[in-house]
Amino acid sequence: MIYIPYYGALTLPDVSCYFKLDALKEMADKPIEVGDKVLFLMLKESKKDDEIRAEDIYPIATRGVVESIEGEWALLHTTSRVNLDSIQADGKSFHVEMRTRPEINDLDPEEQNKRFQKMRSDMLEALEGTQWLMGARNYVMRWNNMNELVSLTSAMLQISSDEKYAILAEDSVAKRTERMEKAFYESLELYKVNSEAQDAQKQSNEQLYREQAIRRQMNYLQGELDKLHPENVTDIQKFEKKIQESGMNETARAEAEKVLNRMKQEGQEGHEYGMLYDYLDFVTGLVWKKEPPAEIDLEAARKVLDEDHFGLKKTKDRIIQQIAVMALNKKQSGSILLFVGAPGTGKTSIGQSIAKALQRKYVRVSLGGVRDEAEIRGHRRTYIGAMPGRIMDGIRRSGASNPVVVLDEVDKLVRDYGGDPSSALLEVLDPEQNATFTDHYMNVPYDLSDVLFVCTANTTDTIPEPLLNRMEVISFPGYSALEKFQIAKRHLLPKAMEKAGISEEQLTVSDETLRAVIADYTMEAGVRGLKNRLDTLCRAAAVQLVSGAKESVKVKPEDLRGLLELAPIRHDHILEAKAPGIVTGLAWTQAGGEILFIETLFTKGNGKTVITGQLGDVMKESVQIAVSLVKSIFPEESEKFVHNDLHIHVPAGAVPKDGPSAGITLTTALASLVTGNAVSPEYAMTGEVSLRGVVMPIGGLPEKLMAAQRAGVKQVFIPEENQDDLMDVAEEVRQALKIVPVHYVTDVLKQTGVMKDTCAS
Ligand code: ADP
Repeated sequence: MIYIPYYGALTLPDVSCYFKLDALKEMADKPIEVGDKVLFLMLKESKKDDEIRAEDIYPIATRGVVESIEGEWALLHTTSRVNLDSIQADGKSFHVEMRTRPEINDLDPEEQNKRFQKMRSDMLEALEGTQWLMGARNYVMRWNNMNELVSLTSAMLQISSDEKYAILAEDSVAKRTERMEKAFYESLELYKVNSEAQDAQKQSNEQLYREQAIRRQMNYLQGELDKLHPENVTDIQKFEKKIQESGMNETARAEAEKVLNRMKQEGQEGHEYGMLYDYLDFVTGLVWKKEPPAEIDLEAARKVLDEDHFGLKKTKDRIIQQIAVMALNKKQSGSILLFVGAPGTGKTSIGQSIAKALQRKYVRVSLGGVRDEAEIRGHRRTYIGAMPGRIMDGIRRSGASNPVVVLDEVDKLVRDYGGDPSSALLEVLDPEQNATFTDHYMNVPYDLSDVLFVCTANTTDTIPEPLLNRMEVISFPGYSALEKFQIAKRHLLPKAMEKAGISEEQLTVSDETLRAVIADYTMEAGVRGLKNRLDTLCRAAAVQLVSGAKESVKVKPEDLRGLLELAPIRHDHILEAKAPGIVTGLAWTQAGGEILFIETLFTKGNGKTVITGQLGDVMKESVQIAVSLVKSIFPEESEKFVHNDLHIHVPAGAVPKDGPSAGITLTTALASLVTGNAVSPEYAMTGEVSLRGVVMPIGGLPEKLMAAQRAGVKQVFIPEENQDDLMDVAEEVRQALKIVPVHYVTDVLKQTGVMKDTCAS
């Protein structure tokens, strides 16, 4: 039994009312469940909880039950009146003996209902023209009977506690109804007189004075409403305090106060209460006060960056520069860095390290698949289910006004019917505009100028030009096998072991095993797959350790297949024998580089060209350029294109075959076909070719060279203009390959032996 002592009001049977769950729990000292019994104890005078004694309680009480629980609220329903035969009370704990008190049903329920309806419409009529009619109407229309009307307005009835008790004690329903009507109509008249007096006063006074009077009146009514719903008061007071303390700007404070006033008028039962609550909860949850910049220690910052990430020297240098510039300018933000690279290359996690180095909060906002401007800038509050945009939501999650925000996957924003999210993002990133960034949901500006934004993307291709121009691109080219090995050994494996609760004595993974995991069980430029494999390995080891099968586990390369439950990956390896018309090319995929073979063949025919291997449009154009080039370089062989059909095939299903970078390979393969001079399988190449035979630069060189080295290639031809990119290529890859920059496609033809020196060029 949950005892609910109350004073100044009246609780009759057959009344439904909401109670804040927390408040109820306090009275019950146990979790509240549907079906719990409650007893409303009417007090003779106002008492603090711990002062209530038996003699303070009227001897008739009202019994009820917890009917349902809805979120933070419990719906109570009263069932009957009870005589309290004995009462023991010492402050918070009660013990009573009770019997149901019978009712004398001497009034036709129809008749009572009619009188209830009239009471209700008289009440609404009295409220006509007042500001809070709207909120009150919804609330009032939910009452089902006269008992409910009288109980829920009882705090406002202008009668004494004893008179209220007399209503509760009345056994005859007919007499009780009369008493209720009398008390109600008398109070209503009093209210009318009061408000008429106020009206008269209002008309005769200045505007300002009138406003004050209304406000006072509203406050009075609000106070009365609050008494009916003490649970409302806590929300309102909470937000009043939070708004005071938040340090909001003027506009924000005015808006918040407006919403707070509406919330007061709406009341807990109102339709919009929840929405208004959410708004205030959001805006008061933001940090509005400016945070002073932390003292910057470059040495310490570099140490943090080095501790968290292996390699990435260029990136770390650039970050340190950024930090230094920020310190000199005494600013908390600076250029917007865009980290571009394949998944798992450390883009997001280095963003996190920047926050750590700057001793600032970190938050990640994912933009992948965002197609609606409102997801960035928020929905206007007129929409049902309106929410703040992802940016402001992130700022709030960070719990600071100057966090480091990593905007993940800016290349995956989709332009759609919902407007252009990238233009909203532009505004967020523009230092000219972002000091007054206005989220539609918030409807007031918030200063983003102290936020340090860092963006990540897999590619710059799909980022709209204006957005790209605003950012400084730093590429994450992917890791070489050696770098991956170091990352695994220093970072990923120790972390995976810690996560699985395995100590160093319990698990040994040899260097050879780590290398095997990298080479045979992952196919990626980054280390995400590698991280997953090592996690799996540690979990598998944990099973062996816990089951008692072993005291320590040593993992050898040959155990990997069983432990990882994966078949090792097969990479293409260079061909063993050479044949005219077949040349090795290099492709870039999001998972890193791959080698590919271009196969060409003449068959009897009349000059048709057949292309297979599902090539994209750009690559098909490269085929046409290659054919024209070869015809012009080898005019005497061009007859062959007339009397034969040309078949070009590019095997390997997993490699996407589009883009211009196979131009040089296609031309060499065709040249090899027409001349009959085979190209050594140890040569590979990449480069776009123009119709003049000039080799033009391509992307993804580091990944392509890594693939070449893995596949056993010895010499690679690359566009001359890509030479600068060699700085990004791992040392051991450069060591293992002979890298030959070329300017003309004929340089390749000569050096591969397709074009003998005697041929014209
Ligand atoms: P991205 O954002 O590029 O997809 P993440 O930052 O999520 O990649 O990195 C994936 C995982 O690899 C993270 O656990 C990260 O700590 C780890 N990682 C990536 N690069 C390095 C590195 N150079 N040194 C140490 N750990 C790394």
